[in-house]
Amino acid sequence: MARVYLSPPHVNGREAELVAEAIASNWIAPLGPHVDAFEAELASVVGVEHALALSSGTAALHLALVVLGIGAGDEVACSSLTFAASANAITYTGATPFFVDADTETWTMNSELLDLAISERRAAGALVRAIVAVDLYGQCCDYDAIRDVCDKHDVVVVQDAAESLGATYRGAPAGGQGVIAAFSFNGNKIITTSGGGMLVSGNDRAIEHARKLSTQAREPVAHYEHQEIGFNYRMSNLLAALGRAQLESLPERVAARRRLRDRYLELLDGTPGIAFMPEAPYGTTNAWLTCIVVDPESFGADREGIRLALEREDIESRPLWKPMHMQPIFASHERFGGDVSARLFERGLCLPTGSALTDEDQDRVVATILAQRA
Ligand SMILES: *Cc1c(COP(=O)(O)O)cnc(C)c1O
Repeated sequence: MARVYLSPPHVNGREAELVAEAIASNWIAPLGPHVDAFEAELASVVGVEHALALSSGTAALHLALVVLGIGAGDEVACSSLTFAASANAITYTGATPFFVDADTETWTMNSELLDLAISERRAAGALVRAIVAVDLYGQCCDYDAIRDVCDKHDVVVVQDAAESLGATYRGAPAGGQGVIAAFSFNGNKIITTSGGGMLVSGNDRAIEHARKLSTQAREPVAHYEHQEIGFNYRMSNLLAALGRAQLESLPERVAARRRLRDRYLELLDGTPGIAFMPEAPYGTTNAWLTCIVVDPESFGADREGIRLALEREDIESRPLWKPMHMQPIFASHERFGGDVSARLFERGLCLPTGSALTDEDQDRVVATILAQRA
């Protein structure tokens, strides 16, 4: 039996054709017609006017902050329950992140705590300029509430949409809720270019500035002229070809992952001691990963017991993100709340949710979990 992975790449057949076409065209560079087309197609899918294809989601977050003018001396609020890339990108600019705990109902940034956090940091003399709000496991933050807080404090919202491509917030596609947003096409995301990212915004000046910075900030003259520090962050034309083929399947990928989540719910819901990540009423999740929370007293085994039992069956599962405020590298940073995300980390488990997972393999995952009951 083959190993069951958490979220492996899912290729539909058009990838080889488009990549072969890119090679035959000799556009084997971090620019070319597939890059332009991928940007236009993704912008259209997420309903945002301007898009820039980049080498990773982390690069997209970094450039988002740079073009907003964030730098040394600034502070940026960040969801604590996230992958380290959200916070790392803040540090690349020279700014300092501080961390805001999750809401129990959505697991995304708690907007009341954000309000308090910004007020307290400002009162302490900090220059709070922006927030990085993270759409978690495919679920958007509550952007109406977040935007109210940010408008009140005159703070800009950067949307980390690395995990939420294909989700919706109040009927609109994820990615249009922040002033600027970053997607990821890493190998484990809902669609992949093996590695890659996209920056999107309604602000064409921000995207054009990021475009310039992403190719070493070359000035538009024949020789190599530079007035600011640039980066080598562009996406290859070969990978953009891959991304275009993947993007064609996005609706099917979202449907497949939502179906897997519904099936997990059907097979496990009602099991004492097992709860699921709630789907917020303001939107639809892309169900990137199905996450459960294990109460060891009522279930009879803890999260780690389940994870190791799955591993013995050659099934990959993962604890939820370890919150940033608990990471050694960020231990000295300011944080607001923290118990909600700490508890989710202690008890939460991401289950295999690859869009090509078979019902038979999913049944094995469920049977292995249920076999751990006391
Ligand atoms: C994957 C991910 C990123 C980083 O994307 P890369 O393409 O891997 O650089 C950033 N934020 C979150 C929340 C992610 O899950």
